[in-house]
Amino acid sequence: MANSKPLMILHWFRRDLRLDDNPALTAAYRGSGGCVVPVFVLSDWRGQHRWTGPARQLALCGSLRALADSLEKLGSRLILRRGDAVQELERLLVETRAEALYFNRSPDPAGRALEIRVEAMALRLGVRTQSFHDVTALAPGAVLTQSGNPFRVFTPFSRAWLKQTPLPTLAPLGPLHPVPHLASLPLPTLADWGLTSSVRLPDSGEPAARARMEAFFREAVFRYAAERDLPAADATSHLSTDLRWGTLSPRVLVQRCHAAIADAKTATLRDGPRKFLGELIWREFYMAILWHWPEVLEHEFQPAYKDLPWHEPGAAFQRWCEGTTGFPIVDAGMRQLAATGWMHNRVRMIVAMFLTKDLHLDWRLGERFFMQHLSDGEIASNNGGWQWSAGTGADAAPYFRIQNPWTQSARFDPEGDYIKRWLPELRNVPARALAKPPTAALAPAYPLPMLDHAREREITLAMYRRVSS
Ligand code: FAD
Repeated sequence: MANSKPLMILHWFRRDLRLDDNPALTAAYRGSGGCVVPVFVLSDWRGQHRWTGPARQLALCGSLRALADSLEKLGSRLILRRGDAVQELERLLVETRAEALYFNRSPDPAGRALEIRVEAMALRLGVRTQSFHDVTALAPGAVLTQSGNPFRVFTPFSRAWLKQTPLPTLAPLGPLHPVPHLASLPLPTLADWGLTSSVRLPDSGEPAARARMEAFFREAVFRYAAERDLPAADATSHLSTDLRWGTLSPRVLVQRCHAAIADAKTATLRDGPRKFLGELIWREFYMAILWHWPEVLEHEFQPAYKDLPWHEPGAAFQRWCEGTTGFPIVDAGMRQLAATGWMHNRVRMIVAMFLTKDLHLDWRLGERFFMQHLSDGEIASNNGGWQWSAGTGADAAPYFRIQNPWTQSARFDPEGDYIKRWLPELRNVPARALAKPPTAALAPAYPLPMLDHAREREITLAMYRRVSS
């Protein structure tokens, strides 16, 4: 008689904290008839980390809580361990005698290096591993030029991307087998990493992400093209943290865009989901850039700008971090980041240009500060956004196109509503005074601008011209 003991597969959750449309989890479920051991290994650093911070870890805690609940509803249990993933997974494979280890692949170099170690460990134990693509709708290496090379520029990448069909989404999971008796840690809190935070995040986890997506596609997506650049309108989806932790599938999101494009009755309404899909493709573009050129995490994508003579960070950097530059639109953005772990995209561009082009500070300082404060800190998009603003990246803004923070403010926050929301000390200042250099203090508690934009612009132009000539 055949052995009736079901095959057991360990699913290693990483940045795919959902049950729906999860390629590795679904394959483990199908391959084992539901006998899956779901595992997450918490990292054990404490204090400060180069690539993350309290807001993103808070989103991780909430997402794990929701994942544990969802697994329990299917009859299973999330096993949490802490430490080096290779050692912890090895222990679990020995304890469970699982037949295989499944996981979704990471897009960044550290994640990829870890996978190689995990696979070597499993090979040594004689355990089969299977890895899957998940993090983008199309695998980062799958969109190539006709001659088989990676794209360096967004528009042709986007055209090629749109010609391909993303994989169909997967059927939901059914009940899971109960997990055998295994030790598991309690759900984590920020204190586990020695962190504290006063940031208030929207609800995290798969059900909240799905509700956010449904709400956005009900109506706001059709206004997206017209309003996405207005920070006061708050008309964007706020799905970036969900995409970061994989509480939402990128393929599901792409599918929803196509459905909304098909449903829209007029060309104007169609513009919304089209534009939204375009932004998702920017995410895919930056993932592809990181995939093909992981060195962008250390160096300028364009070698010509490798030796820019950045200024030393000091009090000026501190003022930027704290949002006390005296440029209301910049300070409002930095205060929004501190309070919510998120910043509107238009304002991210403004504060990034200000750091690099007005303060002449290395984009890597801003890149790191964002990673340590954003809840959606995504290595690829963040590096892409910073190198775009510094003029050093793939398809970046040319260095001589320097945004003027005053003009940006007049154009994208004409009533000053966004500024006043985050800088209450300016609430009685007329909007027109917020969008031009003041001759006297705008408000007693608010600083004068720390620099003259026109002067710093000339310094930047000369600095870039010198290294690129
Ligand atoms: P929406 O406008 O609703 O867009 C939908 C989704 O498309 C986003 O969730 C995001 O996944 C993607 N997207 C939108 N704009 C971009 C873009 N310019 N580049 C790449 N993907 C995009 N995004 C991150 O997810 N993590 C980061 O760490 C990050 N750092 C950034 C740093 C700088 C300097 C800049 C200029 C941009 C950065 N972005 C980053 C891109 C963008 O600002 C955010 O994705 C967006 O503001 C998130 O809000 P949302 O979900 O409401 O976006």
